[in-house]
Amino acid sequence: MSFDRDDPSSTGTERPLTRRDARPAGTVVTVGGVEIGGPDIVVFAGPCAVESATQLLATARAVQAAGAHVLRAGAFKPRTSPYSFQGLKEEGLSLLAQVRAKTGLPVVTEVMDPRQVELVSQYADILQVGSRNMQNISLLEEVGKTRMPVLLKRGMSATISEYLHAAEYVLRGGNTQVMLCERGIRTFEPSTRNTLDLNAIPMLHRETHLAVLVDPSHGTGQAWMVPSLAAAAVAAGADGLLVEVHCDPARALSDGRQSLTPDAFARMMREIAAVAVAVGRALAPAAVPLASVPR
Ligand code: PEP
Ligand code: MN
Repeated sequence: MSFDRDDPSSTGTERPLTRRDARPAGTVVTVGGVEIGGPDIVVFAGPCAVESATQLLATARAVQAAGAHVLRAGAFKPRTSPYSFQGLKEEGLSLLAQVRAKTGLPVVTEVMDPRQVELVSQYADILQVGSRNMQNISLLEEVGKTRMPVLLKRGMSATISEYLHAAEYVLRGGNTQVMLCERGIRTFEPSTRNTLDLNAIPMLHRETHLAVLVDPSHGTGQAWMVPSLAAAAVAAGADGLLVEVHCDPARALSDGRQSLTPDAFARMMREIAAVAVAVGRALAPAAVPLASVPR
C-alpha cells in the first residue's frame, strides 16, 4: 500500500504480521464456539456501559433472544468529561461474568490501561481497546503479551495505515487473536457524531487478513440511523457488527441516544440476516442454543 502519510513510499512490507498475504486465508478468532472472521456474520450487542445487574441481564436476554452472539458492555468507561459516569469498574466486570454464567454469552469489555489488563482478562472473553487508546503503545504491547482475543477499535482520527500499524504491535507481542472495528471517524460533518467510514471495510480486507467489524452506533451517534448503516456494513463485506442496545435507552447512563431498544434491535437483526444472504453469507448460528441456557 502506498498511502501512509508518514511514509509515502510504504508498501505494506513494514507490516509483516498484519499484511494480507501473511495469512491469505484470513484470521478466524473463535470465542465461546463463535467464529469471527469466517464466512458467517457475528453480532456483538449490549449496552454502552454496565449500569446494574438488572439492566445488564435484561439487555443481555433481549439481545440473545434476537440472535446476538457476544455481549458487549463497558465496565471501565473512557468518558470525555471526568464528571460523567465512569463505569462500575471491577464491580461491572463481576456483573458481566455473572450474566455470562446465566446466558452463556461470551463477553467483550474495554481495557483502558496496561495495569488493568490482568484484571480484565480474568473476567472478559475479548479485550476491547477503544478508539481513544488505539495508539496507546504500552496498552497494545500489554494486550500483545496475552493470548486473549482483542477487539481493536479504530482511532477517531486514525488513518488506515496508522490503524494497521497499531494492530501490528499486538501481533508482534505474539498475540494473533486480533479483530478490527471501524467505528466512525471525525470529519467536517456535525450532523452525526462521527462519519462511518464504509470505505474502510474493503480497504482493510485488501490490506490485512484480520476480521473487520463495524460499529454503526458510535459511527452515527443516533439510534434511528443504526439499522441502515448496519445493513450497509454487511452489504460492504463486514464480518460482524458491534451494536449498542439498552433495555431503556432514555434512562441510559451513557450513549442512550445511539442505543437501540430491544425491539429495534430484533428488527435490525432480521434485516441484516436478509442482507447477509443477498451477499452470499449468513448470520452465524447462536453459540449456545437458547433452550440449553438455564434460567
Ligand atoms: C465503546 O464501544 O463503548 C466505546 C467507548 O467506543 P469507542 O472506543 O469506539 O468510542
Ligand atoms: Mn458507547
